[in-house]
Amino acid sequence: MNKPIASISFAVIAALSLAACSREPAAPAAPKAEQETPAPVQPSQTNAQSFSIGQFTGVALLDGGLEFPNDNKTVGVGKTPEEVAQVLSANGLPTDKISLTIHPLLVKTTDRVLLFDTGAGANFGPSAGGLMKSMAEGGIDAGSVTDIFISHPHGDHVGGLVNAEGALVFPNATIHIAKADWAFLQGLTAETAASVGLDKYEAVVAAMSPKVAAFEPNADLLPGAVKAVEIRGHTPGHSGFLISSGDSSLLYIGDSMHHFVVSVQKPDWTIAFDRDAPTAEKSRIELLEKSAASGQRIYAVHFPYPGLGKFEKRAEGFVWVAE
Ligand SMILES: [Zn+2]
Repeated sequence: MNKPIASISFAVIAALSLAACSREPAAPAAPKAEQETPAPVQPSQTNAQSFSIGQFTGVALLDGGLEFPNDNKTVGVGKTPEEVAQVLSANGLPTDKISLTIHPLLVKTTDRVLLFDTGAGANFGPSAGGLMKSMAEGGIDAGSVTDIFISHPHGDHVGGLVNAEGALVFPNATIHIAKADWAFLQGLTAETAASVGLDKYEAVVAAMSPKVAAFEPNADLLPGAVKAVEIRGHTPGHSGFLISSGDSSLLYIGDSMHHFVVSVQKPDWTIAFDRDAPTAEKSRIELLEKSAASGQRIYAVHFPYPGLGKFEKRAEGFVWVAE
C-alpha cells in the first residue's frame, strides 16, 4: 500500500495556519521581563536575505510559516507526545507545537535567475503565500526568473506558481520537475490534491504545462551550476538540487527533512507527509551521514529562516548548525 497518509495532516495544517500568521522566523520565547518591557521600534527584519554561493548570489525568500500541535499526527508518528516533547525541550523549544517556516530559494547566476520551489500561494491561508511580497522586498521581478526547480509537487512548494486568479506568476521561466513527480501531479484528483495541500491543483497543472521540462533522477539540469539529487521517499520523484559555483556549493534538500531538531536528531522517526516513510527515513539518514562527513553547506526550506547551515555528527547523533 502506498496510500498517502498525510490527508488529515495537511487539512489540519491548512486550518491551523490561518491562525498561525507567522511571517517571522521561529524563535525561542522571549524571557518574561523582555515581554513586559515595551520594545523600541526596530527596523523590520528582511524577508529577502542575501548570501553568496561562490560567484552566485542566493536570496532566501520568506513565504510564511506552518504550525501544528505536538499530537503525533504529523511529526513522530508512532511515538508519544512526551517523547517528541522531550526532544523539543532539550533544544529549548516549546513542547506543545511544531513550527516550520517556508522559504523558497532564489539564485542569481551570471546570466540566469533561478528559483527553487515557489511557496504555498493561496493553498495554506494567510500565514503563507508571501513569496511575491518578499521578492518585491528583494527588488526581484517575477518576469526575470528564467528557471524554476520544483523539489516535489506539494502545496507549499508549487502553490506559488499561480496567482489568486490561477494565472502563471513567472511568465518567462522553464519549470524543471522530476518526471515521476510531474506524472504524480497530473494524476491528482480533488481528494488526493487535498491530501498534498494543493486545492488549486487544476490551475497549477494547467498553468505550468506549457513550461515544464521534466527530468530524470539526478539529471544535470544546468551543467556546472545545478544538478538534481534524487532523495527518495517523500513523493514519487522527490529531488534535492546541488547548486555549484566554482569550489562553492549549496545543497537544497527539499522536504527530505522538515524540522531542524526532530528531523535531524531523530531521522528514523516517521513524519506523516512522507509517502513512503521507510524509504524517506533511510534517505534522511544517508543524506545526514554524507553531508556531515563532507561538510556540505545546506539550504533547508522548512528550517528556521533563512535555513542555511550544516549537519554535524556528534557523539549523541546529528545536529543542525545554522550559519
Ligand atoms: Zn514542504
